[in-house]
Amino acid sequence: MKKFIPSFYSKNIFEINIDFFLKNNFKYILCDLDNTLDAYFNKKPSQFAKNFVKKIIDSGLDIIIVSNNSKKRVKNYCDGFDAQYKNKIKFVSRALKPYKFKVKKFLLLNNIPLNKCIMVGDQILTDIKFANNLKISSLLTEELENKNQFISLINKKIDKIIRRKLLKRNLLKNWRDIYG
Ligand SMILES: [Mg+2]
Repeated sequence: MKKFIPSFYSKNIFEINIDFFLKNNFKYILCDLDNTLDAYFNKKPSQFAKNFVKKIIDSGLDIIIVSNNSKKRVKNYCDGFDAQYKNKIKFVSRALKPYKFKVKKFLLLNNIPLNKCIMVGDQILTDIKFANNLKISSLLTEELENKNQFISLINKKIDKIIRRKLLKRNLLKNWRDIYG
């Protein structure tokens, strides 16, 4: 169960106040793409995603999109941001979450300290388990879209069961409660 406990919880990424990241000393926002930053069917960034990324970068934070999806999908998506932001977005595609080795290598190569990272994602079995494997902070969200053809029904069921357990045991700490 320990592997499945996120550090924080938020209904979605867009409601998070950027001060939350700043006050908790997170500099690198590792963000899942499909159903976290955007609906899985959005080939280009939504206005919500654009505003979020703008706020992150304008505040001096870095965003690294960490996705299990293909390079083609992630790169095409990133190319949809305005030029001034596009160049500042890093990404790891086919990240092999929940395994840590590919992202760990990327972070080491880019001199990114683990204690300044927070992983934001909608899937416990991949995103949160990955963060806990890498021993970095994490924030769990709900899925932006319910239907996701790429996630098996069985994984969805397991995710739901774990969420219910975490909620019952009071292990989903809302970012607002911590932030105050
Ligand atoms: Mg996702």
